[in-house]
Amino acid sequence: MQYVSTRGRVAPVGFAQAVMMGLATDGGLLVPALIPRVAPERLRAWSGLRFQDLALEVLDLYVDGEIPRADLCALIERSYASFTHPQVTPLIETGGLRVLELFHGPTAAFKDVALQLLGNLFEYLLARDGGHLNIVGATSGDTGSAAIYGVRGKARIHVFILHPKGRVSPIQERQMTTVLDANVHNIAIRGTFDDGQRIVKDLFNDLAFKSEFHLGAVNSINWARILAQMVYYFYAWGRVSGGDPERRVSFSVPTGNFGDVCAGFIARRMGLPIERLIIATNRNAILSRFVHSGVYEAGPVYQTLSPAMDIQLASNFERYLYFLHDGDTAAVCRLLEDLQRDGRLAVDGARLAQVQADFHAAAVSDADTLEQIRTTFDAGGYILCPHTATGVWAARDQGDAICLATAHPAKFNEAVRAAIGREAPAPPSLQGLLERAARCTELDATTAAVKDLVRSTLREDPR
Ligand SMILES: *Cc1c(COP(=O)(O)O)cnc(C)c1O
Repeated sequence: MQYVSTRGRVAPVGFAQAVMMGLATDGGLLVPALIPRVAPERLRAWSGLRFQDLALEVLDLYVDGEIPRADLCALIERSYASFTHPQVTPLIETGGLRVLELFHGPTAAFKDVALQLLGNLFEYLLARDGGHLNIVGATSGDTGSAAIYGVRGKARIHVFILHPKGRVSPIQERQMTTVLDANVHNIAIRGTFDDGQRIVKDLFNDLAFKSEFHLGAVNSINWARILAQMVYYFYAWGRVSGGDPERRVSFSVPTGNFGDVCAGFIARRMGLPIERLIIATNRNAILSRFVHSGVYEAGPVYQTLSPAMDIQLASNFERYLYFLHDGDTAAVCRLLEDLQRDGRLAVDGARLAQVQADFHAAAVSDADTLEQIRTTFDAGGYILCPHTATGVWAARDQGDAICLATAHPAKFNEAVRAAIGREAPAPPSLQGLLERAARCTELDATTAAVKDLVRSTLREDPR
């Protein structure tokens, strides 16, 4: 299996290289040159598999022999052993609603599904092919912990996560700083999230520094993350259809950077009988506007009750543009130039019709999010997290769609309390966090200070 860049200026690479590369070297995103088709008989056979066995089948198609099947199998088993539910991503029914719970991993959010696997993939490939990886990222709270849990204790890897001191919730801060493995470095900067992002960007732009210290990222553009997320679409379909290839199922997906729904889109192109893919956004509705009008144009970023979806530009959207234009990378580049130059890009005519055939979309206000949490709780006593609630709201008039539950409600108890006047009980992973020992370095919000820390840490312990 070959992977190509959405911008067409990179020679095709194999799976291992695509994973280690993350972002393509021409600034594009890596996509499989050919999406494998899964025949109906095979879908039927897959429908009874447990999550890990299904993951092995799906991943094997894309790994394509670059990792021996037995090794891949062990790697998958290890990745999902950290989940507390035996089905990994159970599909539950409550009050006439189907909810696919993706939050049983170590940080209680769906990003664990991908990052637990990615951490093991990195470790495996570095051990086999040699090299080191030092992950640097800035977080406003949500993704930092999933990244840390993905690579904690892994050989040949360090992770440095910057968060703005005092500006992430106590639970989120503790989820990161209570991880005491020697390769985990939490940095509280005396500044804002934007300062953190700027510093990380500076580090990556210093190409000499970047290559001397083997810097890498774990953001949602890594192909392996999309791949891991495809598995639960197949899994949920199997639970609902019993393997009947005629049975079509819709999914509603709380969306920010378009990674999760992109996985569903590709699963459908592999032949999974998906009826509708519903993009739920909050007030930050760039994707919803695009589906309705064909115009993709950033607006201001609003703070909402679903902070993991408060994004301006969706980092995985470029993958969709590539498929929408049938792999015409010149067309993708032209649209991205429009976006760069004018702050907007647009598709129309047959292309817009295709977008609207591919997706339904709805933008959901905070008021509607709260109302949905309330309605679902009243109907069956089930508590939705605010992100999940946007998806449930967006699916209201779309038949019996499966709603992806992207976080445990106890991570967002302020919104839960505002909706139903009580809190969701914390899962074991969130219990006792405030009492546990923590480690964190406080630094000024300057690139020089962070560089010094990275340099001295890696000189002392290159792993
Ligand atoms: C990251 C995240 C999302 C958005 O997923 P994308 O893949 O970025 O679209 C939704 N909900 C939660 C809880 C998340 O952490």
